[in-house]
Amino acid sequence: MSKVDQMRQIRDEILVLEASPLYEYRTSNGYFPVIGQGSHDADIMFIGEAPGENEAKQGRPFCGASGRVLDQLLATLALERESVYITNIVKDRPPDNRDPSKEEIALYAPFLDRQINIIQPKVIATLGRFSMTWMLDRFGAPEKKMTISQLHGKVVMLNASYGEIAMVPLFHPASSLYNPNQKATLFEDFLVLNQFITP
Ligand code: URA
Repeated sequence: MSKVDQMRQIRDEILVLEASPLYEYRTSNGYFPVIGQGSHDADIMFIGEAPGENEAKQGRPFCGASGRVLDQLLATLALERESVYITNIVKDRPPDNRDPSKEEIALYAPFLDRQINIIQPKVIATLGRFSMTWMLDRFGAPEKKMTISQLHGKVVMLNASYGEIAMVPLFHPASSLYNPNQKATLFEDFLVLNQFITP
């Protein structure tokens, strides 16, 4: 099956995911699941937390306030959204922008796992602690007990079924919205990705 068809299949399965605690909230509000956006051949993949209201209304990741920060970050390395792949660990919006629950992460993570295997990125930049923790756990990294405060801006090598992935944990762009220090750190950490960009 082509990469496009595999992604479509993931979308179709999530559309009817009645087992999700977020399914009813999505359908009763006319929201969309947010599957992901960008190149299916991307070298760099970004994994956030869960869609917010703008994202659920449009069905696209990071198209609200956090997305504007992500766009500024991408611009610092002259990266286009179309050349990377952007997704979240949880594909439906949790009510009131609350943190995703353990159960929600467990339910949606297999879809993310499939997306990683379809795209086979060389680098995964996690945005926030939820996707970082899931990745460390999923790939059995020795760093799995470490916090985002300890690991942000570092490169953690992971063994995927298709080869090595360099993971770069970043703070979530939302954390920088009202905190200039956090924003400066995020921008500084982002530059770590430069070494993985092939001209
Ligand atoms: N925050 C996220 O983690 N993901 C989005 O898509 C938007 C905001």
